[in-house]
Amino acid sequence: MRPYEGIDYYRMEAELGDEERAARDLCRSFVERRFLPVVREHHRAGTFPLELAPEMGELGLLGTSVQGPGCPGLSPTVYGLVCQELERGDSGLRSFASVQGSLVMWPIATYGDEAQQRRWLPELAAGRRIGCFGLTEAAHGSDPGGMETRAVRDGDGWVLTGSKMWITNADLADVAVVWARGPERVLGFLVERGTPGFAAQPVHGKFSLRASDTGELSFDEVRLPESSRLPGAAGLVAPLSCLNQARYGIAWGAVGAAAACYDHARQYALEREQFGRPLAAFQLVQQKLVEMLTEVTTSQALAHRLGRLKDRGVDEVALVSLAKRHNVAAALRTARLAREVLGAAGITDEHPIGRHLTNLESVYTYEGTHDIHTLIVGADVTGLPAFR
Ligand SMILES: Cc1cc2nc3c(=O)[nH]c(=O)nc-3n(C[C@H](O)[C@H](O)[C@H](O)COP(=O)(O)OP(=O)(O)OC[C@H]3O[C@@H](n4cnc5c(N)ncnc54)[C@H](O)[C@@H]3O)c2cc1C
Repeated sequence: MRPYEGIDYYRMEAELGDEERAARDLCRSFVERRFLPVVREHHRAGTFPLELAPEMGELGLLGTSVQGPGCPGLSPTVYGLVCQELERGDSGLRSFASVQGSLVMWPIATYGDEAQQRRWLPELAAGRRIGCFGLTEAAHGSDPGGMETRAVRDGDGWVLTGSKMWITNADLADVAVVWARGPERVLGFLVERGTPGFAAQPVHGKFSLRASDTGELSFDEVRLPESSRLPGAAGLVAPLSCLNQARYGIAWGAVGAAAACYDHARQYALEREQFGRPLAAFQLVQQKLVEMLTEVTTSQALAHRLGRLKDRGVDEVALVSLAKRHNVAAALRTARLAREVLGAAGITDEHPIGRHLTNLESVYTYEGTHDIHTLIVGADVTGLPAFR
């Protein structure tokens, strides 16, 4: 396999510090050595290579920027670079890390008490325990405020009833961060696998994110102690703040998927000949390559700038929305052009393009759809929210 050297048309590499470059290279090498050789088989089987989780933990790829016991605690830019490299492998791999880090470890670190943090964070950071995040319900996706899952007081504890849909890692998780309507506001709970009344069922028949576990969680009068509630989480703002962390990683991850498609298509166009010349020698093919490179480069510039802002503590929802919205759409456009350049070969899994293309359809929809991010930025620039 040809070694991947990254795409750096605008010399953004030069802006990275030694620690950032080292973390990026470590993750890139993990993806090349351990993940790319097995991804096709997992994509075909519709499975996630869970056996890689402890190695990801050892390399600091789980909860990279989360601060807390046993957590890597690195900068947001390092976390972004890690997401970029993981998604160069597959959006499913990055989704696994996003959920574990931004949607499970981050809320425990931010809204959990000391006992919850000490119990869960070192295990999750090491990849010895897996988590999932249950917000979406079958009838409430873009509008999670309509959630029907309920937490009712029961003596000193709670009874949880309802279900969650489209949950990444559902079937793999040892612990689920679950959001439910409480007596006054939305509350967050840590629900452990094996708790009576709690079950997970996989979603079958996906054509997207096949190398990722997606499932449904159901809660049939699940009794939980008060100690399982995240004490700092009060209201819908808590789960939405987790999504903002994950969306930041997605903005970077999309760069990786786009770079993989561009890099592969460019190489293919240089090697494949038609009419006695390499495809890359034709003006129309060059135009496609330039479009792709432009998408990759503009997305990279946004991600790097967003990372630097976040390193300085600027963490504005609309800025993250703009980058997630732009970069995922740009990655989809890149994947479609790359598919075209490969001709018939582009529709087989001998090449990574079709996998990235179909994966990106999920990435376009989850963590706030493209439309919802349009409305978030629209509300920010007009002061007139078009939705609740
Ligand atoms: C593979 C995968 C993994 C996922 N993982 C998780 C997870 O781990 N945890 C979790 O909680 N959720 C997860 N999700 C759920 C995801 O976040 C939701 O699918 C997403 O929020 C959209 O909700 P929906 O699918 O119900 O679409 P809907 O909300 O029904 O939207 C359908 C369409 O209507 C549009 N629309 C909705 N409202 C408006 C509006 N006001 N104005 C204009 N257009 C609008 C949307 O943009 C979209 O195009 C996952 C989804 C997928 C596909």
